[in-house]
Amino acid sequence: MIVTAHAKLNLSLDVLGQTGDGYHQLRSVMQTVAFGDTVEVDLTEDGSFSIDPGQRYLPADGRNLAVKAAKLFLEGTGLGAAISVEKRTPVCAGMGGGSADAAAVLRALNDLTGRGLSLEQLAALGAQVGSDVPFCVMEGTALAEGRGEKLTALSPLPDCAIVVCKPAFSISTPELFAKIDRRRSRLHPDTAGMLSALEAGDLAGVARRCYNVFEDVLGRRRGDVTALRSALAERGALGTAMTGSGSAVFGLFASESDAKDAWQALSAQYEECFLTRPLPGGGQPM
Ligand code: ATP
Repeated sequence: MIVTAHAKLNLSLDVLGQTGDGYHQLRSVMQTVAFGDTVEVDLTEDGSFSIDPGQRYLPADGRNLAVKAAKLFLEGTGLGAAISVEKRTPVCAGMGGGSADAAAVLRALNDLTGRGLSLEQLAALGAQVGSDVPFCVMEGTALAEGRGEKLTALSPLPDCAIVVCKPAFSISTPELFAKIDRRRSRLHPDTAGMLSALEAGDLAGVARRCYNVFEDVLGRRRGDVTALRSALAERGALGTAMTGSGSAVFGLFASESDAKDAWQALSAQYEECFLTRPLPGGGQPM
């Protein structure tokens, strides 16, 4: 079975504080986009698990999130899985590539085995693999809270063109969390305003509220991210932000031709630059 592991963007990302067990409480408006990895999954009768991860630097064993998901789903069945990933989503970009692969494997195995778990049940299994996996199972537009696994479906992001670029550097997620903890005063995204704008189908209202608290603690990388955001805004983006813990940055465009021009111009500077849209048909019940 061949499925697409759609990438995600964090339209807004807020860190509310730390829980007793050391985890951070997040509040993020998440959006699935219409591009991602192609994942092929076959059942194996001998119970073996294998993966071609699509890039030589990605784990080709049980550390790969796609294999973790397969092992969890098939536990106790005696069956295994052979997985092959055609990688398109940039790695360590904040676009949830690994989580999306895991979610795609869960959905594919649910169909291949005929087990018939609901999306909610698959999302609950996915939470054991990683906190972005439940959203990647559900897809669409959602408010993610807790560690990211508590989901509330939102009105879909109005259709628009999206340009995403990943600078050549990656950012250490634990380092960003540590820096966020040390900060005294902190700006927060206007999450309530973004939810109202989504409800009203107001693309410009959503776009101007795109904001990621991690951008405030990027240190020497901040200039690169700000420059990329400015380049997108100068070319007509209604709103821009870094996604997740970076380093990819996106811009939302009302005009397809502005987005195309921006994508063409930025592709000359950034090797990993994509033109996409929100995944249609989002906003499933959660
Ligand atoms: P998120 O936005 O969910 O934080 P990300 O986009 O920053 O994710 P990924 O590209 O999903 O990051 O994964 C980063 C790490 O996960 C890498 O260190 C990689 O080795 C590991 N990993 C495990 N499985 C996969 C996979 N199937 N695809 C990509 N990375 C994977």
